[in-house]
Amino acid sequence: MLERLKTDILILGSGGAGLFAALHAHRANPALDITVATKGLLGKCGCTRMVQGGYNVALNPGDSVERHFMDTIEGGKWLPHQQLAWTLVEKAVERVQELENEIGCFFDRNPDGTLHGKAFAGQTFDRTVHKGDLTGIEIVNRLMEQVWAQPVRRLEEHRAVALIPARDGKSIAGALLIDIRTGLFRFVRAQAVLLATGGGPTMYRYHTPSGDKSMDGLAMALRLELPLRDMEMVQFHPTGLLAGPDTRMTGTVLEEGLRGAGGHLLNGGGERFMETRDPRAERATRDFVSRCMYEEMRAGRTTPHGGLHIKMSHLGPDKVRREFKGMVERCADCGFDLAGGLVEVVPTAHYFMGGLICEVDTSTELPGLFVAGEDAGGVHGANRLGGNGVANSTVYGGIAGETMAAWIAGNGGHRAADEDMLGAELARAQLPFARKGGDLNRLRESLLDVMWDDVGVIRDAAGLRRGLGKLDAIEAELLASGLADGDRAFNLTWHDWLNLRSLVEVSKVIAAAALKRENSRGAHYREDFPGEGDLATSTFTVARQRDGALDIVEEPVQFTIVKPGESLLKQAAE
Ligand SMILES: Cc1cc2nc3c(=O)[nH]c(=O)nc-3n(C[C@H](O)[C@H](O)[C@H](O)COP(=O)(O)OP(=O)(O)OC[C@H]3O[C@@H](n4cnc5c(N)ncnc54)[C@H](O)[C@@H]3O)c2cc1C
Repeated sequence: MLERLKTDILILGSGGAGLFAALHAHRANPALDITVATKGLLGKCGCTRMVQGGYNVALNPGDSVERHFMDTIEGGKWLPHQQLAWTLVEKAVERVQELENEIGCFFDRNPDGTLHGKAFAGQTFDRTVHKGDLTGIEIVNRLMEQVWAQPVRRLEEHRAVALIPARDGKSIAGALLIDIRTGLFRFVRAQAVLLATGGGPTMYRYHTPSGDKSMDGLAMALRLELPLRDMEMVQFHPTGLLAGPDTRMTGTVLEEGLRGAGGHLLNGGGERFMETRDPRAERATRDFVSRCMYEEMRAGRTTPHGGLHIKMSHLGPDKVRREFKGMVERCADCGFDLAGGLVEVVPTAHYFMGGLICEVDTSTELPGLFVAGEDAGGVHGANRLGGNGVANSTVYGGIAGETMAAWIAGNGGHRAADEDMLGAELARAQLPFARKGGDLNRLRESLLDVMWDDVGVIRDAAGLRRGLGKLDAIEAELLASGLADGDRAFNLTWHDWLNLRSLVEVSKVIAAAALKRENSRGAHYREDFPGEGDLATSTFTVARQRDGALDIVEEPVQFTIVKPGESLLKQAAE
C-alpha cells in the first residue's frame, strides 16, 4: 500500500511555478535529485497552459518597473505585500528575457522587432507581452521541453494529499502522494518541498480554472497549521461563457479584449446597464463590472440560462471575426454567434489572491517548505492585474528553485518523518472506502450554489453566516459518504471525494475571512460595509487552524516602499 521514495527536492505541481522551480534548482546545483509530482500530465494540466492574454512586464522605454509596481499596488487596493510586489515587477523583466532567449518562447513583435505589449485593464501602460491569445501554450510547451531534457524525475498523475513534517515538528520531511493510475500511496521524503499546486477557486458555480485544481495545496497547509493570508480575495472575471448546465464550457473565459474593443453588456431586457453605473461603462474594472452584472442577475433581469448578454455585432461582424477568431470559434462551438448575434455570459471565479504566507525568497514558516505561484499569498493583495498571474508563477517559481538549492546546501539532510502523522494521513485519505452510500454529485452542486449565492460576488454578514452553516452541513454529509467502487486504480470518484474535501475546507476559510473583513476592497465587496476603510491603516487577514479550530486575525499592512497618497512616479519626477 505504501511505497517510499527519496529525493532532494520535491516539487508539487507542474504549472509555471513548478516547472521554473525545477529548471532553476537544477541549474543552481545539477547534482541535486529533483522530483516533480503533478496531479495531471506534465505540460498538459494547470492554468499556466490556459493563459490567453499575456504576461505583464515593463520593457518599453516609456514604461518603468516603478509604474508597473504602482499599478500593482493600486490595483491591489494597497493590500499587497510590497516587497513581494516589487520583486515581481523587477524580476519579470529578467524572466521574460529568459523565456525568449533560453527557454525558446517566441512572443508577438512590433514592426521594429521589439516585443508587442497589449493593453490590459487597470494598467497605465500597454505592457502585456503575448503570443496571440495562446500565450500559456507557448510558455508551457517550451518549458516542458526544457524540463524533459533534464534529469528530473516525473511523477505524473500523482496527487499530493498531505505535507508530512519531521518527527520533531521543526521542518518538513516530505509529502504523501496517491499514484492515481494504480491507487498506490507513495511517501516521498525530501530535503525541500515546493507547494505549487496553483490554488484555483473551483468551488464556485461558474469558474475558469482547470479541473485538476481543487485547492489541495492550501488545504494541506491549513492542516499543518500554517498561516494563510487574504483568503477572502477571490477574483471574478465578468465574461464567463454561459452555455447551459451540462457543459464544461460554461464558466470558461471570453477574453477581456471583447469589452476593451467596445463590446456591450445587455441584460435580459436588452438594456445596456453599465452606461449608467460608470463613465467607463463596460471598460470599468473586472470587480466592478462583475458586481453590476450580479446585481442585474439578482434582480431577475436575465437571459434564458440566467445570465446576461455580450453584443459585439455593432463593431462589424467581419472585424469581430478577424480580431477575435479564437473567441468566435469558442462561442460557435457552444451554439452562439459572437460576431453577429448575442452570447450569454456570467461573472466567473477566475483567480485566488489568497494563499500561504511566505518571504520574498519563497520560504515559509516551516523550514524546508517553500511556496510559489497561485498558492502563495500577498503578491496581489485585493486584486490581481490581468497579466500579473503568469508573471508571478514564473518569477517566483525560478526564485524557489534557487532558494531550495541554496537552502539544502546550508541546512540540508533528510529528516525522519513523523510516522504517526503519516499513518493518520493515510487513514484520512482512505476514509471514503470505509463509508457506504452518499451522493457526491449532489454535494458538489450544493457547494457550488452556496459559494455562488452566499460567499460570491456580493457578500454580507447574514449571507456569510448562512453560507458557513451550509458548508458545515456539506462537510458533515461528505464525511459520512462513501464510494460505490472499492477499486483504487483510476478511481475518479475517490478523487472527486478528495477534491470536494479540499474545496469545502478552503471554502470555510474564504467565508470566515470574508466575515472578518468589514470593508470592501477590490474583489471583496460587503454590501453591509461598502466603504473601503482608511487606506493608511489597512489590514490583511491571516487565517490559521489551531487544534482543528479556525482562527482569523487582522494584521497591519507594512508600507515598506510607498504609502497611500504617495507614488513612486511622483517621487521619480521630483
Ligand atoms: C482561463 C485562464 C486564463 C488566464 N489568463 C491569464 C493571463 O492572460 N495572464 C496571466 O497573467 N494570468 C492568467 N491566468 C492566471 C494564470 O494562469 C495563473 O495565475 C498561473 O498560471 C498559475 O500558475 P501556477 O504554476 O501557480 O499554477 P498552475 O499553472 O495552475 O499549475 C498547478 C499545478 O498543480 C497541480 N496540482 C494541483 N493539485 C495538486 C495536487 N494535489 N498534487 C499534485 N499536483 C497538484 C496541477 O495539476 C498543475 O500541474 C489565467 C487563468 C485562467 C484559468
